Amino acid sequence: MTTPIPAPLWHFLSREVALVCDASGSITWGDERAVRMLECTPGQPLRKLAAQGTEDKVDRLITLARDERVEGWEVILCVGGMPRTFAFRGAPHEGGSALVGSLVTEDYAASLSQVSETMSELAALHRETERQQRELKRRADELALLNRDLEESNRGVRTLHAELDEKTESLVRAAEIKSRVVANVSHEFRTPLHSILGLARLLLNPANGSLTVEQQKQVQFIRTSGEALFELVNDLLDLSKMESGKATLRPLRFSASDFLGALRGMMRPLVPVDSPVELRFEEPPGELLLETDEAKVSQVLRNLVSNALKFTETGHVTVSAELAPDDRVCFQVRDTGIGISPELHERIFEEFTQVESPLQKKVKGTGLGLALSRRLAEFLGGSLTVQSTPGRGSTFTLLIPRVHPEVEAMVSLAERSQHLEPGRAPVLVLEDDRQTLFLYEKYLERSGFQVLPVRTVDEARRTLQRVRPAAIVMDVMLEGETSWGFLSELKGNEATRDIPTLVVTLMDREHKARALGADEFWLKPVVEEQLLRKLAAMARTGPVHKLLIIDDDDVHRYLLRQLLKDTPYVLSEAATGPEGIRLAREQRPDLIFLDFVLPDMTAFDVLDDLKADPITRDIPVILHTSRQLQEEERQRLAKETAIILAKHTLSREVAISRIRDALHKTGLGTNQGEGRRG
Ligand code: ADP
Repeated sequence: MTTPIPAPLWHFLSREVALVCDASGSITWGDERAVRMLECTPGQPLRKLAAQGTEDKVDRLITLARDERVEGWEVILCVGGMPRTFAFRGAPHEGGSALVGSLVTEDYAASLSQVSETMSELAALHRETERQQRELKRRADELALLNRDLEESNRGVRTLHAELDEKTESLVRAAEIKSRVVANVSHEFRTPLHSILGLARLLLNPANGSLTVEQQKQVQFIRTSGEALFELVNDLLDLSKMESGKATLRPLRFSASDFLGALRGMMRPLVPVDSPVELRFEEPPGELLLETDEAKVSQVLRNLVSNALKFTETGHVTVSAELAPDDRVCFQVRDTGIGISPELHERIFEEFTQVESPLQKKVKGTGLGLALSRRLAEFLGGSLTVQSTPGRGSTFTLLIPRVHPEVEAMVSLAERSQHLEPGRAPVLVLEDDRQTLFLYEKYLERSGFQVLPVRTVDEARRTLQRVRPAAIVMDVMLEGETSWGFLSELKGNEATRDIPTLVVTLMDREHKARALGADEFWLKPVVEEQLLRKLAAMARTGPVHKLLIIDDDDVHRYLLRQLLKDTPYVLSEAATGPEGIRLAREQRPDLIFLDFVLPDMTAFDVLDDLKADPITRDIPVILHTSRQLQEEERQRLAKETAIILAKHTLSREVAISRIRDALHKTGLGTNQGEGRRG
């Protein structure tokens, strides 16, 4: 037994208690064991400790022991609430009695067995605790092991991640290269193919001399093979355009009914008059107007209908369009053809996948149509799916938003370029990529420039007839055209020659750009700060607004200069009232920033002087103050100045918008061509 006996149990191991009582039987002293065991206190009558009904026997013991020696007097006292038998000896002591009680054996044995019971319970508890501790340790060891394993797998996962990142990067690079190669090669293919097809057509034309029947057959083969190749090249080109994100959205507003009508016209020639397959077009229920890329929707549906016709031997092919939930349009092409087994429903959308079938051998196809169609569907913001049962037919569903999500954004872009913001120097940006246009807009948002976005050379020409921009930023490789001609046109024309022009494009054509007169050439992508700095520098040679700051405080002048950095405003500064008035007369600025408190003159004096001179009378003044103005001062100033501006609230945006407001009030800035005075 290793567990120590708990202190409260000690007293059970001694059998005796000693007490002294006074004449009345109250306890005057008890030894330590008596106090602990009987929980008696001095002054307490001993009979109170007697078990119920045995008090008299205790009283008699006290009375006897007061007068004579007593031996073996058994009384029952309460120990911890339990009756226990004590054999008392007693003797007279100082008028009272001295008593020594001894627990009788059977009670002692009971106490001991209680102790040993408690001890064994404790030991069991101890064993259990030890067992639990061992278990805990085992679990802790297991956890540590697990932790180590986890860390190792973590390290592994991290390495894998890094490898995956690398692979993804190289895949992306490979995909880019593939797209570029495919796009270039396809382009190169198209020219000779055009010639081959043209020559074949020439040869087949009887007007150009007759061929033998055999020769005719051969040339016809050349022609059909050429056409198949041409189709493949076109599909490849479209696909690579989609993959490289180069496709352009050309939204149109059109009705589903007109659209299906035109489609019917295009597809009908594919169905011979005596064909066992009927091509049906269902009239859309109600007026259904779409605003999306009609040509791309048409491309998808033409492909679906031509597939359906290819893989349907009897029955019908039905085309329908209807409004679907969430303002979408659901186009369906249903056929009663050979169908597609379920495990191939996804595969057929992969490039170059064709399903083995006797029919397949008879029909033409590149295996690219559905892959391209699905890309087109995604480009239109929708999806292309199939439901089909072999032997029963297929239904292809094109689900697209009725209005393409980007249409709204584009409309607002075009609208914005129609309205010139007063006091902002317009910058014509010719760029076919919408994202890049938005980026330019975002970059110039907080500057004194306004982007006039145009996406084609034609639009650019039209805009130039209305506005003379402070600068032109242009890409040269546009969708379907280049703008080299436009650049030389700009620089060859007296009226536009001086407009600073920045060419920004993907390919290094600096020589050509400079030779045609570009003032600057940059490779994409454009960095915001660089662009602002460049525009500000270039715009200085164009129509700019001159601003004069009259303020004695160097710090305020510096702050204003910083706020207006990289904007098309040219600043001059005066530290005193008289100098300010002199500069205003000499330079005739478009706008004056005037400090309210000047050391030599009050702002009112300066204003009076400016108003008195016809040269400076109409120059708008922004009163710039750090002082709380009196109402009366405010009223007087309000009459004579354009705007009152608190210095502490000044930010770049506030400064620019106030300058614009002030210039607008005087009618300046609305016609940028006349923006410069003097
Ligand atoms: P293809 O130029 O060969 O038609 P697609 O990508 O358009 O290429 O189609 C891929 C394959 O999917 C087809 O070759 C054909 O096996 C199967 N398929 C497409 N449309 C249908 C259809 N309506 N019915 C049965 N099979 C079809």
